[in-house]
Amino acid sequence: MLLEKIKLEKSINKIKIIKMIVILFLIMDMFVLFACLFMSPQIDLKYGKEINIKYPSKYKEPGYSAKVLGKDISKKVLVKGKISNNPGTYKVTYIVKNFIFKTVAIRTVNIIDDQPPKIILKGNNNVQICPGTKYKEEGFEVTDNYDKDIVSNVEIENNDLEIIYRVKDSSNNKAQVIRKVIEVDNSKPEIKLNGSLPTYISLGSKYKEPGYSATDNCDGDLTKSVKVTGEINSNKPGKYYITYTVSDKSLNTQTIKREVIVQNVRSTGFGCGLAGAIYLTFDDGPSEGSTTKILDILKEEGVKATFFVTNNGPDYLIKRAYDEGHTIALHTATHNYSLVYASVDNYFNDLKTVSNRVKRITGYESKFIRFPGGSSNIVSKKYSPGIMSTLTQEVVNRGYKYYDWNISSEDAGRCAKEKSSSCVYNNAVLGLSKNRCNMILLHDIKFYTADALRDIIKYGKSNNYIFRQIDKTTPMVKQHINN
Ligand code: ZN
Repeated sequence: MLLEKIKLEKSINKIKIIKMIVILFLIMDMFVLFACLFMSPQIDLKYGKEINIKYPSKYKEPGYSAKVLGKDISKKVLVKGKISNNPGTYKVTYIVKNFIFKTVAIRTVNIIDDQPPKIILKGNNNVQICPGTKYKEEGFEVTDNYDKDIVSNVEIENNDLEIIYRVKDSSNNKAQVIRKVIEVDNSKPEIKLNGSLPTYISLGSKYKEPGYSATDNCDGDLTKSVKVTGEINSNKPGKYYITYTVSDKSLNTQTIKREVIVQNVRSTGFGCGLAGAIYLTFDDGPSEGSTTKILDILKEEGVKATFFVTNNGPDYLIKRAYDEGHTIALHTATHNYSLVYASVDNYFNDLKTVSNRVKRITGYESKFIRFPGGSSNIVSKKYSPGIMSTLTQEVVNRGYKYYDWNISSEDAGRCAKEKSSSCVYNNAVLGLSKNRCNMILLHDIKFYTADALRDIIKYGKSNNYIFRQIDKTTPMVKQHINN
């Protein structure tokens, strides 16, 4: 019984010891927990553990603080981690220690590119192409806020009615542009008329179609499909119209008209040898300005002319005309009718003066002359009856050749009042004939003559006339002598 009692007491003691040990361990745990809670530092990250930044804004440390037992130890925090400016996810590590206790905090930084690229099409976004043809890519450009060269990433989907251009940047931002392609031809063909417009023909002469051509943006050359209608009565002066019509395959129709003017032109009918040749002859110059312009045009057009000069104007223009290959001829020095037609001697003295001038400037002795007023003038009768009959003989005796004209541009006549270059042009071209030589009287002292010259030359060229200057082989052009 006693033994049993002793045994029981022993086991009770054992249990008490175990209880004590357990309590002791619990107290120690509490202590460690307490130490951990109060002795390890706390890190506080301003704006949280994850920050999103939109590219191209740059990351800037937003701030942090660290504490232990209420004491600020922010200065002890070690910050680690590099963040580039490129889109991506980055980590920043914050470490702080207190005795044996160490705390680590991590902040995640996302640099986000949410801007899609931009596709810019070259050419139009809405394209019209000729029916039955294929669209020829005109190209495109791509820009992106981050990716430098992504034009090669563009994928093209080619449907019948549209072309879809797609591209992604390295952050998977997508862009898409559509080019609409329509097969249609809304453009009319174009008709070009040859020859000068309006087209002049002289009364009684036959109208000959100067020609035309037609082209279309889709169908090409349509000249053969042009329908020409209209009639011209060349026996009746007036305005007539020739109509040209052409349609393309898409039934776009073009119609244009040519104005044809039938005019009654007086032509003296005599010639100077070479049929179809035009002699541009300029009297009374030179003159600063207008002669310069005439020489410029002749040079540009590659045409040579004849200048019947006087004592007018500067020497250098005679020199220039001579140097550029034109014929320098004589028209008298003074051009004063009462003086030059007062006597034969007077005439030749005056002629000698201008001849000397030309020789002094060019070294050349000209034997080509034109009488002031022409050989048919009647004004001379007032000063010396019969003088033209004498002079026309006498000049030939003295080795000269004289040249009147068979076409007057009227630049010193009818056209002078309105100073009209179209009047000069009309008179010049309407007098032209292929059956004889055409010696046209012009005056290089008239600015409106200079303005008409280019068109006269163009007309002559496009109608297959040839331009000539007076030379030793040119037969004299003589009008009827009236005094
Ligand atoms: Zn004259």
